[in-house]
Amino acid sequence: MAEEGKFDVVVIGGGPGGYPAAIRCAQRGAKVALVEKDKVGGTCLNWGCIPTKALLASAELIAHAREAEKFGVKITGIEPDWTAIQARKQKVTDTLVGGILQLLKANGIELVNGFASITPEKNVLAKTDGGDRVLETDKIIIATGSDPAELPTFDFSQPAVMTSTDALALDHVPKSLIIVGSGVIGSEFACIFSTLGTEIVMLELMDRMLPTEDSRVAKQMRSTFRKQGIDIRTETTVTEVLEYREDGIKVKLSSGDELEAEKLLVSIGRKFNSAGLCCEEAGIEVDERGRIDVDQAMETSADGVYACGDVVGGILLAHTATFEGLVAAENATGGNATMQYHVVPACIFTTPEIGSVGLNADKAAEQGIDVTVSRFSFGALGKALAMGEDYGFVQLVIDAKTDRVLGAQIMGPHASDLIHEVAMAMHMGATSEDIANTIHAHPSLPEAIMEAAEAAHGKAIHVAPPKKK
Ligand code: FAD
Repeated sequence: MAEEGKFDVVVIGGGPGGYPAAIRCAQRGAKVALVEKDKVGGTCLNWGCIPTKALLASAELIAHAREAEKFGVKITGIEPDWTAIQARKQKVTDTLVGGILQLLKANGIELVNGFASITPEKNVLAKTDGGDRVLETDKIIIATGSDPAELPTFDFSQPAVMTSTDALALDHVPKSLIIVGSGVIGSEFACIFSTLGTEIVMLELMDRMLPTEDSRVAKQMRSTFRKQGIDIRTETTVTEVLEYREDGIKVKLSSGDELEAEKLLVSIGRKFNSAGLCCEEAGIEVDERGRIDVDQAMETSADGVYACGDVVGGILLAHTATFEGLVAAENATGGNATMQYHVVPACIFTTPEIGSVGLNADKAAEQGIDVTVSRFSFGALGKALAMGEDYGFVQLVIDAKTDRVLGAQIMGPHASDLIHEVAMAMHMGATSEDIANTIHAHPSLPEAIMEAAEAAHGKAIHVAPPKKK
């Protein structure tokens, strides 16, 4: 237990990395303070995961209502009300932020509202509205996250140019939108706004959209985006802004074309948030891009200072941040935990959804790993057809020698839920035969995973055998 007036652990940043870390430290008996400069919940709750999913839920409802007649239901007068959609989104995030504040209080964690930096003595200096306050502490956990990366081509003070944070705060649905970058965030916004009636052109520097995903998934996603009316231009970027207007932007593309739109969203990645922390003075190694270096225990190069979440790079996802934060918390309170990354599910909440975990088919081929790639299409699955969502597939990547499941890519209905069956199987070291031998309820979407596992052994019931020559 810390001396009078001193903390055992001070956590900097209250996002999905920081607040679970603070709670875990408190659960382990530590006296904890959490310093947050803005809102607890961080990017995830306030400007990321949750608000985008709340908007997507509205967009999906609209898309379903428009399809209602196919299901024998007549719905007339479907009209998105952006103000109400935004209000619902805000209510969802406010509820969750309120929940975190209560949890912090219930765990006896002192919340300090202010901007934190680390002193050379490895205490924390919090700049608050009431003045500077030094929080003396034994251990520090840095969880300061990331901010949207900006491109020098664009002047972000112009009303037409947006980061993802700006796009979430729009007071109306733009008539037209250029999205620079076809990664996860750009693709999710494309789905939201195209359903709401925005005309979208998506630009991607690489030769395919979703460049970090399995090529089969990316290819099928491109074709569904096209069907949704989204114009995707690969190997294309903006070379020059020709005009900024109050109500729009005109740009020149690397293809030579000129393009005009009401808004332009830059979604090209994130920048690490370590500026102003005074890492160097405290002996904490930071690379030239601001990423804080950590070992498997999530400890930085300075003894007793840990870091987690987006600011340490790697997989920039909320659940990774949380797991890293929990490892840091264990170690900052006398434990001995290490962070493992081989089973991290990653989901893209587009229509249809994408869920992936572990090795994909492309990487297996690149790395020369001997695998069996086994697929099952949702088009052959009763539940998917009944739901009217029979697009996409399950793809299992299986070790050809041991039959252990090494990865999976799922594109289709509820892919973000389904992927966890494979994640659990991988975590338990299961083989594809284990999955095939597990009775799955009928009719259900997870049957597609079972069928893909059966197909790996030539036993899938709903896949026609290869034609005999
Ligand atoms: P953050 O959430 O960024 O939190 C850091 C906190 O630290 C912030 O509250 C910040 O105010 C505070 N802070 C920073 N510096 C200081 C300082 N010096 N002093 C005091 N406080 C400070 N991930 C998913 O897993 N699923 C998704 O669906 C998903 N969707 C996303 C959608 C969008 C549009 C975006 C932008 C991101 C999305 N992410 C998603 C990524 C996810 O939001 C991040 O990976 C996650 O929030 C990282 O958590 P973190 O705790 O490391 O950082």
